[in-house]
Amino acid sequence: MLHLKQVKTVLNKHKKRDSWFLDDYSVNPYEGCSCNCLYCYIRGSKYGENMDEGLAVKTNALEVLEKQLAARAKKGQYGFVAVGSGTDAYIHHEKQYRLTEGMLKLLLKYRFPVFISTKCTLITRDIELLKEIDKNAIVPDDLKALKRGLILSVSVSTLHEGISNMLEPGAALPLQRLELVKRLKQEGFLVGINAIPILPYISDTEEELEKIIAAAKESGADYILVGGLTLFGTGIADSKTLFYKFLERYDSSLLTKYQQLYGSNPYTSFRYQNELKEKAQRLCRKYQVRNTILE
Ligand code: SF4
Repeated sequence: MLHLKQVKTVLNKHKKRDSWFLDDYSVNPYEGCSCNCLYCYIRGSKYGENMDEGLAVKTNALEVLEKQLAARAKKGQYGFVAVGSGTDAYIHHEKQYRLTEGMLKLLLKYRFPVFISTKCTLITRDIELLKEIDKNAIVPDDLKALKRGLILSVSVSTLHEGISNMLEPGAALPLQRLELVKRLKQEGFLVGINAIPILPYISDTEEELEKIIAAAKESGADYILVGGLTLFGTGIADSKTLFYKFLERYDSSLLTKYQQLYGSNPYTSFRYQNELKEKAQRLCRKYQVRNTILE
């Protein structure tokens, strides 16, 4: 059941800028996410197994955000704001509640630069608003080389429709996401692909990773960020539990391999992470796509 809730704060300042996405702040119009990705890091008992059912709409978010932005702007504390870090900003509830749109209007009014990563095509509704943010935002001095006030990312973990349907049931299909990258590029935005999380033994093979990076190039992406899969918890709504159930349905022979790779940890070994990083760097060089947002 959808919940309505009031919040005291909505704009979060990070202790340190995110080194991948360059955001200094984050803001979430909703709690929970109807994309319902089984591997999602926000999973756990709070939202239950179906995060669409446990979703909350922050009804006073715009009022609270305006106060927080006004205070930060007055002190000149500009920085990229990630809209939707613990939810997708363009989940289907956004059609009705339009909180993301309202937040973007406020970010434009106070001239904050914006970062958005999405798996949903509803973002195209806000193209004109996003163009205004891109043109008018005040970017921190050390990020001026970007020459942009808006960074967009589209997330892709696999190009296989069947796997995506099982793992990311509420998100747009992978090919629709690649089409979205093309459309956003045609509109003139700085846009890349977040190949995060890349799935061990599924999309981390040389062949599968190459397909994703080649598709990123073909869609015109300015950059591709490649990152591994983290799996948390042993509760019924935790990502590790749900992901292992998916493996049983998809290919039960992978279960033992995953158990060896993760053991009781949420992360893979440094060795695995380094191998993935090297593979991604090599393929990015081959396809001449950069693997950072900032050149
Ligand atoms: S789109 Fe992002 S926030 Fe939403 S469920 Fe998937 S991983 Fe979580």
